Amino acid sequence: MDPSTVCLSVFVALISMVAMFRIYKMNSFRIRVVGYRSQTMCHACHAITARAEANCQHCGKPLRAV
Ligand SMILES: [Zn+2]
Repeated sequence: MDPSTVCLSVFVALISMVAMFRIYKMNSFRIRVVGYRSQTMCHACHAITARAEANCQHCGKPLRAV
C-alpha cells in the first residue's frame, strides 16, 4: 500500500463523514421547523401555544376565532 492510496482513502472517509453529518444536521433542522410550525400565537394574550389545542393554554380563549 503506497502513501498516496492511504491519503486518498482517508480523504474519502473524511468527505463521507462530513456528508453524513450535514444530512443529520439537515434532518434535525427540518424536525425543528416542523415543531415550530405546529405552534401558533394567541391573538388575545400573544402567548406561543400548540396549534393542536383548540383554546389558548394561557388565557383559554379559542385560537381559531377571527
Ligand atoms: Zn391566550
